[in-house]
Amino acid sequence: MNFLESDISYLKGVGPKRAELLNKELSIFTVGDLLQQFPHRYIDKTQFHRINELREDSGEVQLKGTLRRLVTVGEGRKKRLTARFRDETGAIDLVWFSGVSWLEKQLEVGKPYVIYGRVNAFRDKLSIPHPEMEEAAAEQQKKAVAFAPVYPSTEKLNTKGLDARNRRRIMAGLFEKLNPQDLAENLPPYLVQKFRFPSRYEALRIIHFPRSEAELQLARNRLKFEELFFLQLRLLQIRRRRDAIKGYRFGTVGEYFMKFYEEKLPFELTHAQKRVLREIRRDLGRAVQMNRLLQGDVGSGKTIVGLMTMLLALDNGYQACLLAPTEILAQQHYHSISAYLEGMDVEVGFLSGSVKGKKRKALLQRLAAGEVHFLIGTHAILEDPVVFQNLGLAITDEQHRFGVAQRARLWRKASPCPPHILVMTATPIPRTLAMTLYGDLDVSVIDELPPGRKEIKTLHKNENNRMRVIGFMREEIAKGRQVYVVYPLIEESETLDLQNLQDGYEALQREFPPPDYQISIVHGRMKPDDKDYEMQRFVSGKTQIMVATTVIEVGVNVPNASVMVIENTERFGLSQLHQLRGRVGRGAEQSYCILMSSFKLSKESKERISTMVRTNNGFEIAEADLKLRGPGNIEGTQQSGILNFKIADLARDGRILQTAREVAARILDDDPQLERPEHHPAKWHLEKHGRKLKGWSRIS
Ligand code: ADP
Ligand code: MG
Repeated sequence: MNFLESDISYLKGVGPKRAELLNKELSIFTVGDLLQQFPHRYIDKTQFHRINELREDSGEVQLKGTLRRLVTVGEGRKKRLTARFRDETGAIDLVWFSGVSWLEKQLEVGKPYVIYGRVNAFRDKLSIPHPEMEEAAAEQQKKAVAFAPVYPSTEKLNTKGLDARNRRRIMAGLFEKLNPQDLAENLPPYLVQKFRFPSRYEALRIIHFPRSEAELQLARNRLKFEELFFLQLRLLQIRRRRDAIKGYRFGTVGEYFMKFYEEKLPFELTHAQKRVLREIRRDLGRAVQMNRLLQGDVGSGKTIVGLMTMLLALDNGYQACLLAPTEILAQQHYHSISAYLEGMDVEVGFLSGSVKGKKRKALLQRLAAGEVHFLIGTHAILEDPVVFQNLGLAITDEQHRFGVAQRARLWRKASPCPPHILVMTATPIPRTLAMTLYGDLDVSVIDELPPGRKEIKTLHKNENNRMRVIGFMREEIAKGRQVYVVYPLIEESETLDLQNLQDGYEALQREFPPPDYQISIVHGRMKPDDKDYEMQRFVSGKTQIMVATTVIEVGVNVPNASVMVIENTERFGLSQLHQLRGRVGRGAEQSYCILMSSFKLSKESKERISTMVRTNNGFEIAEADLKLRGPGNIEGTQQSGILNFKIADLARDGRILQTAREVAARILDDDPQLERPEHHPAKWHLEKHGRKLKGWSRIS
């Protein structure tokens, strides 16, 4: 058996007890697992601090000195160990609250130690809790270690004898036994040469025990590349495999499309819209199933692109459907698309849970007979009784609300080929994320807003400005505009949040009393019918103010609304704020987004708010979000697990990712099955480690 696959309990310094801890706490079972858990930082062993220079904010420090006194205080669970540590400049207290009996036996008064820990201040007195202790003599012998690794750990590990120092010892023991042959190269040799990467063995040794910053950098680059390269290789393989799925060929641009383009289209398409339509047409002409993601900021005009794609389907004799995640959105699409198609010979149907009885039956009959060309609606479209005559295209709006299983149902609605799929999303995703998350898809981006839009003005205000904000709302309403006031609502504090919303609603009612003013209120706890009723009152202009939770976040279109007031802004995420802001600025008037917050804000909240004030560009905001929160927290990415990188960082490693993807694509172009000898190691590696992507695929 390969050493890497052996049980960690046989490693020097581990044993069954510690092995169990590592299993439970960190899911580390084999030597390979252990090797693959990289340090998250390093202690610079070349620098020593002097005790008389230490201050409250010195942070983590390394000291060299002698242990002077060792005293146990208290009994039982409250027992703690304190020590005095002295160098040539002064002395400081050390203190331990756990593992006391073990430490008492290990530590020796009068002996020189090198210690490492974080300076703590309590009533002006400095101390170091739980320092790492290393005998200076032992430390001397390991001259080669310039940086000592620190591994991700847990409280349990730290107190049960698997602290940083022991982890390091175990790793050192592991490397004593590890042979370069155990870690065969997995990258093609010509790549290792081209990028001057250290070998795989070398890179792993360095990542655990670097001797210099420069060496560490090289190892990191290689390991990041490796991680991203194999993921891209796999994603591109999936994509190529999918390219083998037959699809309907929409070869003709016919009368429907042309008539719409020449006579009905009320404006000139933007360059970005034209480019995306060309990309889609190219897909549709290939007799291969299209799987395309269309990204575009709110208001960038995705609907029209979707509609024109549907017209292409019709030109080629196929039906098309458009799915939206909510009834309101589906209705909106139905109305706007029906309006666009006015005077054209296209039958558009609407289907949702609210379409019942005879109406539903009649619609389904006409759909099955091919008399309805476009079906627009909610998830209801996916239900089994809904049968198309010949579905050729399915478009989904705001994709992350649809699960994989639901998408699979779409497939079954068409035969012999699956329908072409276009997924539209208004949640801009940073390029690096898109390449990873949707790496197996074709992605189109509308990165340009239609001309003549006025930038939404975004302002940051607090309670002191409340009266001015109310006054401003009054002015805007006097001009005939409408206002949204949005409150956060999270499940954990739902009752409190609803109370907050209710209080805000009542306060607004006092400021904006009937009969001059009418206010709508909408939140997730309301019955769907009541919600729709309140929404409709706002949409039709009967109410001037809409007080709501984030239920209005996605896609709602009320062009007359020009002010978006967001309460407790600090509680919203960046992309959510951007989505909310996108509800205004849809008409011709100047629109405003007012971010209300408390005075005291965390650094991150400040950063989020200032990003919102600075830019309206959704892609820029998504980049900022990625930097602030990391890829795992970006909306719509949570389920995927694909983003749990060991070392790569999508917020920072964009260039490595780009290179990895290009290299992977080139290799698959030349050698699709990875059959050449120089690609065998990569192929083998993929087969062995590509498991996490098995069965994983977007959309279809
Ligand atoms: P989104 O991408 O958010 O779904 P929509 O498709 O709803 O955006 O379009 C937003 C608004 O912009 C709509 O009122 C639409 O008619 C208008 N629009 C779309 N494309 C253009 C264009 N090229 N020129 C002018 N207005 C456009
Ligand atoms: Mg839209």
